[in-house]
Amino acid sequence: MASCRRLSGAALREVLGSAQGLLFDCDGVLWAGESAVPGAPELLERLQRSGKAALFVSNNSRRSVAELELRFSRLGFRGVRAEHVFSSALCSALFLRQRLLGGGAGDGGGATGRVFVLGGEGLRGEVRDAGLRLVGEGEQGDVQVHAVLVGYDDQFTFAKLAQACAYLRDPRCLLVATDPDPLTAAVETASGRKAVVVGKPNTYMFDCIVERFGVDPSRTLMVGDRLETDILFGKNCGLSTILTLTGVSRLEEALAYMASDSAAAKDMVPNYYVDSIADLIPGLDE
Ligand SMILES: [Mg+2]
Repeated sequence: MASCRRLSGAALREVLGSAQGLLFDCDGVLWAGESAVPGAPELLERLQRSGKAALFVSNNSRRSVAELELRFSRLGFRGVRAEHVFSSALCSALFLRQRLLGGGAGDGGGATGRVFVLGGEGLRGEVRDAGLRLVGEGEQGDVQVHAVLVGYDDQFTFAKLAQACAYLRDPRCLLVATDPDPLTAAVETASGRKAVVVGKPNTYMFDCIVERFGVDPSRTLMVGDRLETDILFGKNCGLSTILTLTGVSRLEEALAYMASDSAAAKDMVPNYYVDSIADLIPGLDE
């Protein structure tokens, strides 16, 4: 059972020494708002020098992966490439491609239906890049809508909600959400359907990572700031977990989950915690 111990000293060197790579959540872990967490860029550079993989797994569906790559460099993180970043926007698009177009490439997805997106341009761009077509872009006459994708939508209207519900009356139309949030709950309630949630704490994003990089769960650490998404995701994927206290969740919440009798609560207890990911630096060899 996870014991929520402060990670430092010999234990830190042992845990990092045996790790092949680390997965990081982004907001609240690497940066807070428009500034990097002090020491975070140095940690990533040190990991790179130590030959350990660093991959990024974010429930943020507002930005495309290309935009996230720019954000890394703007905030002083060097050498992070787009292919190392797995956002819920990207992974939702990959999920829809798999479900709507099957494994094979080039079967003309446009002919097999469209995706209605409740979300911004970052999310729409990922869906287009996955080879899928969006409702409202260039169709003539009636088209079949094969999926409704719910992300973060700052242009949300009740007209869009009604449109989504109309498509979802067809049971063949998939309902997919980038992450578990209030807009997803609103669409579920209004449509009477249950969404497939792609983002953390569900494991689909890890499947995408394994497919691209072949990581070994037993030698991979998940570092995050939210118990209910990041730490539970790590647990669901069979990873050791580290809570960092620069973001949303507090140590007291982790300890309360640990004291609880509920098995579901215990799944949100991290193996370790640190005040900041800068505290991981002393665990790496020079
Ligand atoms: Mg976070």
